[in-house]
Amino acid sequence: MGTLSAADILRVWEAASSQRPVERALSLLAASTGARRDELARLPIGDRDARLLDLRERTFGPRAAGVASCEGCGARLEFALELPSLRATRAPASDGEVEAGGWHLRFRLPNSDDLEAAVGADDPRRALAARCIVEARRGGEPVAEPDLPPDTLAALAAAMAARDPQAEVLLDYRCPTCGAAGQTLFDIAAFLWEEVRAQARRLLVEVATLARVFAWSEADILAMSAERRRAYLELVGD
Ligand SMILES: [Zn+2]
Repeated sequence: MGTLSAADILRVWEAASSQRPVERALSLLAASTGARRDELARLPIGDRDARLLDLRERTFGPRAAGVASCEGCGARLEFALELPSLRATRAPASDGEVEAGGWHLRFRLPNSDDLEAAVGADDPRRALAARCIVEARRGGEPVAEPDLPPDTLAALAAAMAARDPQAEVLLDYRCPTCGAAGQTLFDIAAFLWEEVRAQARRLLVEVATLARVFAWSEADILAMSAERRRAYLELVGD
């Protein structure tokens, strides 16, 4: 498994800026590992997110600062995160089963292709169910295109989340302003993308400054270690 070099960060930032979130997550992994996008797109979301956590740790380290809004009073909450503590213990991905509302459903875990298709649908939850249900039975009889009631769809979503806990990491908080306790979703794909975007902006400033003073090429500047770039920037008083 690779890491994101300075050149990788600028490349993936440039390519993924115009992409939708699901595509961006795959771009980040493809840029660092050289894995094929279509293979990455078929990973269950928890597997994808475990790889994104690895990538974040190797690129920026295990500590991170999280930000959320209190659901009680809207106050901005900042907290320190240790990424290893966000790893869910989980069995290897495999089909799951759930009984709800007279239905017996066997399902596979959603992957990036499924999410991408679902977010564009009129009813994302129903679209995701249609893609991921492997077998539906009612009264013991197989049903080819099940029209599931909302409660059964909700039970299916809960069973999927329980089977793939890395796909939905919830952080507990207690608000220091109003005292409310709540949970906030930690989305590693969105989190890492914001960091890559911020790092790309810093790198562009560094390249622009050093190229102006020393007339070095972008490739040469990006190939330097961060320490060496910083030392040159100090020399030029930036
Ligand atoms: Zn609050």
